[in-house]
Amino acid sequence: MTKRLENRLALVTGASRGIGYALARAFAREGAHVVALARTVGGLEELDDEIQAMGGSATLVPVDLKDVEALDRLGGQIHERWGKLDIFAANAGVLGRLTPLGHLKAKEWDEVMAVNVTANWRLVRSLDPLLRASDAGRAIFLSSGAAHKCKAYWGAYSVSKAALEALARTYAAEVATTPVRVSIVNPGATRTAMRARAMPGEDPETLPTPADVADTLVALAEPGLGVNGGLYDFADGRLTIRSA
Ligand code: NDP
Repeated sequence: MTKRLENRLALVTGASRGIGYALARAFAREGAHVVALARTVGGLEELDDEIQAMGGSATLVPVDLKDVEALDRLGGQIHERWGKLDIFAANAGVLGRLTPLGHLKAKEWDEVMAVNVTANWRLVRSLDPLLRASDAGRAIFLSSGAAHKCKAYWGAYSVSKAALEALARTYAAEVATTPVRVSIVNPGATRTAMRARAMPGEDPETLPTPADVADTLVALAEPGLGVNGGLYDFADGRLTIRSA
């Protein structure tokens, strides 16, 4: 049986744990070769073992997203080896410290913006020619409900996700006449380390798992996707489109 992402090349950021790990695994299970990026080598190696055990393949990229020169080089390296990129899953993110705007340190603000926004712009800049070189380039940006619903103490994260959505929508407009399709996803509350830090009193067993989210997002990576610039919410086990 043909796999849904047979012969596709997918870059997943934040692939060492959580939603990114599950996305990388789901893409590999569906036949994609996965380029898995994160800082934690142990998490990437665990992913690699799992993917190999399924008969899939991965390339590990242990890089800090704040190392912007490394992100610039990544496009060239992918170009040299494969000449194109079919799927870019911009998943990595940091929550930052939940505290009033007036209490945030400049360093904390800068880190959230660097990882959640600037790194994704640098990657878009580096990867755009490769996504255009694919017959069906797909860019999937992991956002958050916090981009739209602003809550006290979530300032840096909310601002970063609103900026990320603006980046993604701008990119969608720029590729509108090409086969590239851009999607923005709010995964909703998901059982990960980030969520546990944001909501320490919550029972994680009540939340969907990263695999629940990831298995659904495979549809946005498939060559057949028609919508460009779609904003999706994952809830009750399925994706609902809010706007395009
Ligand atoms: P986790 O904290 O579990 O995982 C975050 C991933 O991002 C890790 O793999 C981490 O890898 C990577 N990452 C963080 N900083 C860097 C960095 N400087 N350089 C490279 N990689 C980095 O988060 P989730 O899986 O929960 O979240 C995934 C995405 O979904 C995020 O964008 C998040 O904002 C979004 N989201 C999550 C929700 C939830 O309930 N879980 C709800 C709404 C949105 P490492 O530390 O190894 O570098």
